[in-house]
Amino acid sequence: MRGAVLYGPRDVRIEERAAPTIIEPTDAIIRMAATCVCGSDLWPYRSLQAITGPTPMGHEYCGIVEEIGSAVRSVKNGQFVIGSFFASDNTCPHCHAGYQTSCQRKEHVTGAQAPLLRVPLADGTLVATPGIPPDDLIPSILALSDVMGTGWFAADAANVKPGATVAVVGDGAVGLLGILSAKQMGAGRIIAMSRHPTRQQLALEFGATDIVTERGDAGVARITELTKGIGADSVLECVGTQESMMQAIHATRPGGYVGYVGVPHGVELDGRELFFAHVHLHGGPAPVRQYLPKLIELAWERRINPGRVFDLTLPLDQVAEGYRAMDERRAIKTLLRP
Ligand SMILES: [Zn+2]
Ligand SMILES: [Zn+2]
Repeated sequence: MRGAVLYGPRDVRIEERAAPTIIEPTDAIIRMAATCVCGSDLWPYRSLQAITGPTPMGHEYCGIVEEIGSAVRSVKNGQFVIGSFFASDNTCPHCHAGYQTSCQRKEHVTGAQAPLLRVPLADGTLVATPGIPPDDLIPSILALSDVMGTGWFAADAANVKPGATVAVVGDGAVGLLGILSAKQMGAGRIIAMSRHPTRQQLALEFGATDIVTERGDAGVARITELTKGIGADSVLECVGTQESMMQAIHATRPGGYVGYVGVPHGVELDGRELFFAHVHLHGGPAPVRQYLPKLIELAWERRINPGRVFDLTLPLDQVAEGYRAMDERRAIKTLLRP
C-alpha cells in the first residue's frame, strides 16, 4: 500500500509501505474512509520536534473494520468505526476516570495517512457509528477522531458553563472547534482571537460573538476591556506556545479556568505569577475516547458540523501539498482520501 512518510524538514513523501497486519489478538485493521493532516503533524514537519528517521505519519482515522484479532469482541468486520489517536483499554482506573489518553496500557496510533491502519486494543479504542455514514457526513465523523474531541476537551477542561464568558486562543481547527464546543455547552459570550478573515468567518458560524485580532498583551487588554475589567470565566488555549499560554492565563478572571490543549513547545510557567493569578489550569492530550459516543450522536444527527474545518480535500497521493497548504496557512485542515 502507499502511505505518507516524513523524512525531514518539510519533506513528506508518499511511498510504498508494508500493509499492516494483526500483531496482537486485541488488534483490528481498518480500511480508511478518510484521514487528515493534524496541526500537531506540523511540529515534526517544521523540525520543531525531532524524528528518529523516516516516520509514517497520521493519527486521525475512520473507516471500515477489515480484520480483527482473535480476542476482539466489541467490533466486527464490516462495521464503520472511529477511534482516538491513543489506543486505550477503556477498563483501567484512568480510563474509568475519563482519562483514556493516560490509560495504563495506552499506545500511540500512527501511520493513519494510508489506506489501511492497525489499531491496538480495538475493544477499548474503537466506537462504531450507527451505520455506514453517507459520504457528506464523513468529514464530520473523521473530525471526531481528534480535533473535535480536543476542542471539546478544551471547553470541558475550561469548565464552560451555560451563560459563561469564554475566550479562545488559537484559530486553528482545534480552536475553531473549541468555539463550537463552548456554544454547545451554552456559553453566553464567545470571544475568538483571530486575525485571519476566513477563520474569523468560520468562528462566527460556530458561535463566536466577538473577534479580537490583537495578540499577546494587546490581546489580553482587549479581552479585559470587553469583559469590563474582569476577564473571561473560561479560556481555551489551543496553540501551545509561551505567548499563547500567557495570553490565556492573563485573560482569565481570578477563579476562572484555562483549558489547554495546544501541545506545549518551550512553555515555562513562573510559579509566583501563577500563584497570584488565581486560575485553574487543566489540560493535556484530550481523552477523545470519553467523548466519542456523545459526539458521534451529535454529528450523526447533524446537530454539529465539525467537518467544516476541512477546507482542502486531496487524494492521499498529494499529501505533500496537504502539509504545505497547512504550513503556509492556506488551509485550516487537509482531508485526505486514500
Ligand atoms: Zn491530531
Ligand atoms: Zn485504560
